[in-house]
Amino acid sequence: MIVTRNKTTQITKNFDESEIFSKDPRFKGNSHYIDDKLIDVLQLIIDYYTQKEYDAHIIVTSTYRTLLSDQQLAPDVKYHPHSEGIAIDWKFTSEELNNILQKDLSDKGYVWNLIRKAGINGIGNEGFCFHFDTRMTHTFHDDEFGKYATWVKF
Ligand SMILES: [Zn+2]
Repeated sequence: MIVTRNKTTQITKNFDESEIFSKDPRFKGNSHYIDDKLIDVLQLIIDYYTQKEYDAHIIVTSTYRTLLSDQQLAPDVKYHPHSEGIAIDWKFTSEELNNILQKDLSDKGYVWNLIRKAGINGIGNEGFCFHFDTRMTHTFHDDEFGKYATWVKF
């Protein structure tokens, strides 16, 4: 989908356009592409932990970034999915939930399957945030789901 600067149209139950719009100060455009799957999967995660009776709130820390900004943030990597609008960095407001998710991902159980089935192919940590992306290239092979890549082992 295309998100537009200063718009607050609700996208899913918990996210509106302004939360998903680029936070890169270098980006001067009025709109940019972002893969819908990224927002849908964050909503699935909120719904899952809410149903488990956690107080699940998410802060989106980064979405689309200009290639220049992304190269400055990650000078050693050759692939920059944020610059294609197919990556999102985020965290829970609760440190407890961040730890629980970290464990749930490393166990590769229900939550791992949930996000892989929802089209997340790149999974990692950037600082204190989770990174999800829907890359189709620069992947390793995962027998069960096809392609995936992680650059931080959970
Ligand atoms: Zn990222």
